[in-house]
Amino acid sequence: MESRWKMRVIAITIGTVMALSIVYSAHLRRRRRKQKRSRSSCYLQADQTKPQQAFKRVLADNSYSPFKHLKLNESENALNSHPYEAEISALLENPQLEFSFLNGSTDSKMSEEYTWIETESQLKELLGVLSKERVFAVDTEQHSLRSFLGFTSLIQISTQKEDYLVDSIALHDSMGVLRTVFADPSICKVFHGADNDVLWLQRDFHIYVVNLFDTAKACEVLSKPQKSLAYLLETYCGVYTNKLLQREDWRQRPLSKEMVQYARMDAHYLLYIANCLIAELQQQDTEISCPDDKFNFVLEASRRSNMICLQLYTKEVEAFPGESAASSLSSRHLNSQGGVSSISCKTQFQDLVRRLCAWRDLMARVHDESLRYVLSDQAIVTLADRAPMTSAEIFSTITQADLSVELSFNSFLLSPSPVVCSHLNDVCSLLQDKIGNFNDLFPMILQKCLGPGGSCPFSVLNYALLVNCNLKVTVASKQNGERSSKQAARKSSRDLFVQKFSCKSPVYHNCRIYANDGRLLCYCDRRKLEWYLLRDLAKLVDENPPAIMLLFEPKGRPEDEDNDFYIQSKKNICVGCGEGNHYLRYRIIPSCYRIHFPEHLKSHRSHDIVLLCVDCHEVAHAAAERYKKQVAAEFGIPLFVSKVVDSKQAQVLSGSSESATNLEEAGVSPLQLRTAAMALLRHGPRMPSKRREELKQIVMSYYGGREITEVDLEMALLVGMSPHERRRLEKKKGLSFKQSILPNVEQENNIGCMETSSIVDASELSALDGSHNTEVKACCRKEDRETDADVGDSSICADSGIDGEISSTKGNANSDEYGVSDTKGVNVVNSEDNCESRSPSDGTVDLYHTKHDETARHKHNSKLSLLGHGPHGKQVVDHLQKEYGDDGIRQFCQRWRQVFVEAVHPRFLPAGWDVMHSGRRDFGEFSVYNPAKKPSATGKD
Ligand code: AMP
Ligand code: MN
Ligand code: ZN
Repeated sequence: MESRWKMRVIAITIGTVMALSIVYSAHLRRRRRKQKRSRSSCYLQADQTKPQQAFKRVLADNSYSPFKHLKLNESENALNSHPYEAEISALLENPQLEFSFLNGSTDSKMSEEYTWIETESQLKELLGVLSKERVFAVDTEQHSLRSFLGFTSLIQISTQKEDYLVDSIALHDSMGVLRTVFADPSICKVFHGADNDVLWLQRDFHIYVVNLFDTAKACEVLSKPQKSLAYLLETYCGVYTNKLLQREDWRQRPLSKEMVQYARMDAHYLLYIANCLIAELQQQDTEISCPDDKFNFVLEASRRSNMICLQLYTKEVEAFPGESAASSLSSRHLNSQGGVSSISCKTQFQDLVRRLCAWRDLMARVHDESLRYVLSDQAIVTLADRAPMTSAEIFSTITQADLSVELSFNSFLLSPSPVVCSHLNDVCSLLQDKIGNFNDLFPMILQKCLGPGGSCPFSVLNYALLVNCNLKVTVASKQNGERSSKQAARKSSRDLFVQKFSCKSPVYHNCRIYANDGRLLCYCDRRKLEWYLLRDLAKLVDENPPAIMLLFEPKGRPEDEDNDFYIQSKKNICVGCGEGNHYLRYRIIPSCYRIHFPEHLKSHRSHDIVLLCVDCHEVAHAAAERYKKQVAAEFGIPLFVSKVVDSKQAQVLSGSSESATNLEEAGVSPLQLRTAAMALLRHGPRMPSKRREELKQIVMSYYGGREITEVDLEMALLVGMSPHERRRLEKKKGLSFKQSILPNVEQENNIGCMETSSIVDASELSALDGSHNTEVKACCRKEDRETDADVGDSSICADSGIDGEISSTKGNANSDEYGVSDTKGVNVVNSEDNCESRSPSDGTVDLYHTKHDETARHKHNSKLSLLGHGPHGKQVVDHLQKEYGDDGIRQFCQRWRQVFVEAVHPRFLPAGWDVMHSGRRDFGEFSVYNPAKKPSATGKD
């Protein structure tokens, strides 16, 4: 039966494709004739049905420029901060807790009447009504198919007396009228699941919600079995809603009866439900109140609600248009192919996917359509795979690809879309590789569409695209010029720094991982999803943004610990000030300590790595460096290794029956040794002889007091360096280090005596400390980029010692980020600290942390750089572990979080971030995913 049905579907499909091809050929012939007469071939010239074409003012347009938030007064700082941050923060500290919304039980039944608001005067009347209320309920409906960013198509507002449906399409340019009531802290706004609504209102109308009560958050605090609105409507009001209606086209006017009913219901009952939930929260507080338990249910629900208000809308940032979609489509397809295609096929495929995704992104922006409306994912993959050459082939390839996926999902979409049909020439050129330099594609297509006499309609949504495109090109060429001019480079070194080392694409991708029972486990980036999909350890359950469901049972779920941090959607903004244009990763627990933590305590890195803008980063880093010194003093463990001595000389010394005290006095700090050796090598002959003698003494004390040669000086430069640092130096110096020297020194270093009992000359260290040189920093960081995918993570001035001259030759030698040695070691450090993008690559099936066994750890330690804070970190951690065990380390982490909070006063930390965070998660003893068990599942790749 079923196979016969399948055959019929295939037959129909083939028939349809053939018919379409014929129709299309005719269409093409007709169009060619028409095109000779006029260039305006874009479908939009004839399509006047898109309501957003009437918008006069658009806050979030389709250009690549960042979203600008409301500025209440001009004197406000340049940062894109939350205009009502102060008001919201005040509510967080001092929640307004008189929730006497409804006087007793009011009849919540929905009457027949409601008010439709579509004129500005009606809107102003509504404002009058709302400003007299103490509370009102709100919900919004979106349209997202025929728009690039989506727009709010309806706003439902309910007071105790009346339901209002606000036509936010007709009133798009006037909605700001309601700004004051939404921002009024004395009026409570009740939403259900406000996360999206809050951002949509900012994006479309600069409306910011202050004083929110979110019934979904109340459910969370009360640990309700479900927190959907449908559940609440059923249990509290006995009414049923059909959530399928949320997918309706909310642009249509008039709205159908069912849609009006659905829309009203989403807001109407919220006040009643809020009242019930508040009563329950209050009851919990009186019932479960133990005197020293600080937890207050009402307070917590209010706090979580208002945290939502602090979020800021941002546009997604990509280094290249369509880049993230391209990489995910490519790898998904190539993975499903199981590596059967040749390298050149693969490269061509990836290149085509990249071009098509860039084209789709640009077209969607130009025409204000969603990506899926322009060209489906499956069409892109099929086009790139088959690389059809003629227009007719392209046409039928797209149709086939779209027919082959689930009919229910895309059946209402035209395939190929009108965008493809009217811009088919571009698709042809793309596939035929006619466009030489891919980067020229961008301005070229834009000019063709929107330039003088362009094919597509100009609008408030797309005009900035063209303007910014030109800008982008000129800015880029200017920067090239700057690179050759030292003066200009110095002048704008900070800008360059921001540009180079801040994260280029969003760090958090908000892809989701669900457990096999459908509960959300965490957010992560695409690479992680792909890792699981590739190994058949998960199945894809959602496309945009993508989500997977694990096919195995993970041990240790976020909610096990009452810890909702891991399932908070993370924003790509500075957690300090909310800056969304540039940000770097910042490690709250300095790596010099963290790399020595036992594995099971390293697991919560996503909690302790946050995004910071360059300014906040600087503040945080400075505070951390200060605090390191405090730690050093408190534990009596100096920040730098105080004395080293050449191992051979040490043997000689102890062998020649000299007293032990002599041995103790011998040696020199590795930093001092480096500085001295470097200065002698570079400027020795030109130095005043007194100074030269001083420096020589320093180096000699390393070699047990014997006379030194040029080779000794060069070798002294390598002392204390990890192999990785050495390789870098080597690369920089070219051939100046003889190959034969290296292994020798390396060996010495491993057995070289590392004395830390002696006192560090603190004044000397602090004098060295903090002499930052931006140029050097930028140069160091550039080098880091090559080996370190986790760019911008180490601090701006990871160099905490040594003057500029030396830093410039040594690379980033004493950055504590490089406490671990060779290339492999560096990878390990990165994967530890960068859970989201790296962890799956090491072949473990561990949601939260990577594993590497003890032997690997010991290996790292032996390769520890003596120039950074690594040895200090190791001793501190060993001490904590010995004295206080795991708790000691947890408390140590909490201290660092406290330091961070006090320095930066972060205002945009994800809800759930906590100084006291313990985030313990480990695998079950018997789990196949227990790293100790060497699971067979992980050996599959
Ligand atoms: P709601 O408040 O639940 O009615 O949802 C508000 C808006 O979110 C709707 O108008 C839709 O645009 C969008 N939305 C929510 N859930 C979905 C979904 N599952 N599929 C498509 N759109 C959705
Ligand atoms: Mn709704
Ligand atoms: Zn067009």
